Amino acid sequence: MVSLRDLPSVDQLLQGAQVQEWIVAYGRPLTVEAIRSALNQARARFAQTGDLPNSVAILQVAQNILEKWITPTLLPVINATGVVLHTNLGRAPLSQAALFAAQSVSAGYSTLEYDLERGQRGSRLIHAEALLQRLTGAEAALVVNNNAASVLLILTALARRRGVVIARSQLVEIGGGFRVPEVMKQSGARLIEIGATNRVHLSDYEAALEDKPALILRAHRSNFRLIGFTSEPELSEIAVVARQAGIPLVDDLGSGALLDTARFGLGHEPMVQESLAAGADLVCFSGDKLLGGPQAGIIIGRADLIARLKKHPLARAIRADKLCLAALSATLLHYVKDEAEREIPIWRMIATPLELLKERAAAWAATLGQGEVLLGESTIGGGSLPGETLPTYLLALSVSKPDRVLTRLRQQRPPIIARLDENRVILDPRTVLPEQERDLLAGVRSAL
Ligand SMILES: *Cc1c(COP(=O)(O)O)cnc(C)c1O
Repeated sequence: MVSLRDLPSVDQLLQGAQVQEWIVAYGRPLTVEAIRSALNQARARFAQTGDLPNSVAILQVAQNILEKWITPTLLPVINATGVVLHTNLGRAPLSQAALFAAQSVSAGYSTLEYDLERGQRGSRLIHAEALLQRLTGAEAALVVNNNAASVLLILTALARRRGVVIARSQLVEIGGGFRVPEVMKQSGARLIEIGATNRVHLSDYEAALEDKPALILRAHRSNFRLIGFTSEPELSEIAVVARQAGIPLVDDLGSGALLDTARFGLGHEPMVQESLAAGADLVCFSGDKLLGGPQAGIIIGRADLIARLKKHPLARAIRADKLCLAALSATLLHYVKDEAEREIPIWRMIATPLELLKERAAAWAATLGQGEVLLGESTIGGGSLPGETLPTYLLALSVSKPDRVLTRLRQQRPPIIARLDENRVILDPRTVLPEQERDLLAGVRSAL
């Protein structure tokens, strides 16, 4: 008769050579906890089945438990979906220079809030400001944690307990729980909706300004498009009306671009410089959408308004950290040096010539010895250019159980995220970084 007394003790199991290695690698407390947990599982199983696992089996369970505990949940993946700014996959990959900058300021101490010339306390707000001024011609700039925070700060600091005019067609939800009307409510501003769902006229803005609102907000619709019987005044027209009434005009661009997307065969995504030129008093946009940098919210525009934002207590709560500021400054510098298309990964992906994508897909097919190279479409994502696609070449793998292959691709290290199309597994070379190709092909081979 086997009994629970035949189960090895924690101390006995700790003597094993393999367990000694775990202690070195993971530390004693975690190792002991994993062994206890494996022993508990063995006892529970004994109570149900009357079987006792041997030491080898118990240690195998302990090892699985340990591995699960120490594996991070935030892992790098290979994005083979062809969605350039995939929000679930972390949006924009950083440039080499941005990575290096973040690493060098965070491995040691930095001038985050230190003025080297005067040897005194400085401000973290200056780091990206001069670059943003140079790039956009804005009087002033402020960087916060993300663009949702930009909008919240602007509304809270400039419009709390007052009215904000916005067109009904712009009361959007952009995913991740960001809804313009709810942010408005959170800020304490009062929503003044104007126009109809599909059309808003300059006269609607003029009529709303008679109530003396705190500001006019224009929000980019980001992830959907209005088509058919629609109209909206130009930003420059709204700006004239706003200026006459002395009311600030704020443009939430969402993505915002510093390069013209039309140059790459896409539609034209509104540009930051255009909003300022059209007369917006403040413009806000994300750091990790078409800018191609780290997660950040960037606000640029009139110096007097930016000064009020900087002074508001909320600005402290949503401030950008040093990793972000270092990576953002390095990313902005690529634009200043006119090398963004070459150095910033998302622009490199967008600008990849179709012929090169075809060559890469064909080379994958040759290495794998299977798959078909097909003309297809990549999308930009990140709430920019809804409905717009870029032609690409895909590798399509015809397999009997595509769902199972997708699951197995996700189980690779690094995990591979692919697409499914009509029972075929689809891999788009556009979003796979060249240095990931070896891992991609090894992973695909193993998943097949
Ligand atoms: C994406 C987006 C935001 C939110 O930006 P995050 O950087 O994701 O916080 C706000 N407004 C618009 C119009 C957007 O497209």
